[in-house]
Amino acid sequence: MGITRGEARKILHDSGLRVTAPRLAVLRVLADSEGPLSWGDVLARLGDTDWNPATVFRNLVKLRDAGVATVAARAEGIDRYALAHPKGDAHRHPHFVCEDCGRVACLPVELTASLSVDEPWVQSVENASVEMRGHCPDCLEQEVGS
Ligand SMILES: [Zn+2]
Ligand SMILES: [Zn+2]
Repeated sequence: MGITRGEARKILHDSGLRVTAPRLAVLRVLADSEGPLSWGDVLARLGDTDWNPATVFRNLVKLRDAGVATVAARAEGIDRYALAHPKGDAHRHPHFVCEDCGRVACLPVELTASLSVDEPWVQSVENASVEMRGHCPDCLEQEVGS
């Protein structure tokens, strides 16, 4: 999806956060991503900056604390962040963890929507973090190619 600088500013402002250059940049990286990103992923996508990696990390945590970002997946003990605002999609869908490249991808919600759940499990299932593991399509393709 992606958001403009102006939209990023507004999100920070509406959440009561100070607008700083690294915070804006981190927010936009999350908005641009198709799946949850680890701290290292965010650093890689920011590319060459003068910002200290610790600054980037603090901003991720800050965005999470403010409810702008959410930890969508915790594969291998690494927190992966995704934008929670403004769509309110807290990534309550299954994620796929690739055991080769470590990428975490969002899976289509249809995969679990077909589960018919009755009380008292409805709430539990909605809040579950579902993780599927294996080899992502890119890695599978590379294996075939080599
Ligand atoms: Zn992979
Ligand atoms: Zn997701």
